[in-house]
Amino acid sequence: MSKVVTRIAPSPTGDMHIGTARTALFNWLYARGRNGKFLLRIEDTDKSRSNKAATDAILTGMAWLGLDFDGDPISQSERAPRHIEIAYKLLEIGQAYKCFLSEYEINDLRSLAIKNKSPTAFRSPWREAPSSTFPNKPFVIRIKAPQSGATIINDEVQGNISIRNNQLDDMILLRSDGTPVYMLAVAVDDHDMGVTHIIRGDDHLNNAARQNLIYSALNWNIPVYAHIPLIHGEDGKKLSKRNSATSVIEYKKMGYPASAMRNYLARLGWSHGDDEFFTDEQAKKWFDLQHIGKSPSRFDFKKLSNISKLHIANADNAALLHELIEYLNVVDQPSLSQTHLNGLLRSLDFTKSSVKSFPELLEKNSFILKDRPIYIDPDLREKIEEFPLKTLKILTPQLQNVKWDRSKLEELLNSVCEQVELKFRTVAPILRAALAGSSKTPSVFDMMTVLGREETIERLIEFEVKNNNEI
Ligand code: GLU
Repeated sequence: MSKVVTRIAPSPTGDMHIGTARTALFNWLYARGRNGKFLLRIEDTDKSRSNKAATDAILTGMAWLGLDFDGDPISQSERAPRHIEIAYKLLEIGQAYKCFLSEYEINDLRSLAIKNKSPTAFRSPWREAPSSTFPNKPFVIRIKAPQSGATIINDEVQGNISIRNNQLDDMILLRSDGTPVYMLAVAVDDHDMGVTHIIRGDDHLNNAARQNLIYSALNWNIPVYAHIPLIHGEDGKKLSKRNSATSVIEYKKMGYPASAMRNYLARLGWSHGDDEFFTDEQAKKWFDLQHIGKSPSRFDFKKLSNISKLHIANADNAALLHELIEYLNVVDQPSLSQTHLNGLLRSLDFTKSSVKSFPELLEKNSFILKDRPIYIDPDLREKIEEFPLKTLKILTPQLQNVKWDRSKLEELLNSVCEQVELKFRTVAPILRAALAGSSKTPSVFDMMTVLGREETIERLIEFEVKNNNEI
């Protein structure tokens, strides 16, 4: 069997859409799981709608999602000479013809066909005209669509779809200004790129029949098709800015790790039994076309968050930190100092297991990202003023000598609580306030472990001094 070649062929007309990202992911998984190639083609033939910023958005989106492609991106517009060459080749081999009809004449013919309730698609009277009759006028090149029989699309997702050939227009391949049409460009590019499997949105299913006409006319091998249903929003309507975030980069800005997005998007419309959480390696091994669903999938933020939580919890700390830095960059937050980065790296083991996104991870780690003097959240301040500070007075000196590990710290704190005759849960807010200034923190012992002896003691003393004066 020949090597698998897939592609993603986005039209650069705005931000990279999450649906395009999922299509890219499916193609990537399919190729990477089969030792195949995954290519990127930028469909930039519509100059009025394509622009460089949109192309960059695609490249950025692909890079963030880790969807590496083989070779350089291919620009469809740059391949126009090849598309023109093929239109003329079709002419030469009698599979296409020159049509000299004016727009008015075409409209008249169409009106007549409607009036006569003609069941067949558009055919030009120039279809069989001998060249001796050709006027010296601009012309378009049209394909000679077969008049009988049917074009079958064997779609891996949609099943076999049959379209009667007399329903297929003699579509234009080359316009009268000599420019190739989109349908020709796609077929020629896919053929020249050696694409074996076309996995794309089912809004392109109708195009497959037309593209097949071109393949058949040239005796080219028809690729395997898999037209995948669209993604819907949580309200069941087509995904739009109104019911969801449509652009890939918005998800990066929400602070989901790329691995979680890959995992979630893979599950959006494809399944492997009941598996919800999986690694890239598993996805590459498991991904197939048979288990792509036929009906539109609904975007579900809760599921995405749950998957994200698992990916953050299971991530390698250095990789997680790297991604966190990228996140801060994309949301225009100041970068972290080396001291903060070092602290974070020590802290991740204690903090990464229960958060769903990078903003939550940062919040959990705010104790290590703060510098003295520690600002105390007003709601926590209200709570602590009810408690005596004598706990700190007893605790702080003893912290100088205790062995700095979690169990010894726990032991020490319990004995101090006994001395002051308070429950640990009464004392904890005061410690949280002193060490973090917030109540949303990891456990007091974890914070102490991460902060280290010196910083812990400094924070406790600072708090004691300030509150002695105030209370
Ligand atoms: N350029 C098309 C799009 O962005 C995809 C065409 C294709 O995959 O054949 O929807």
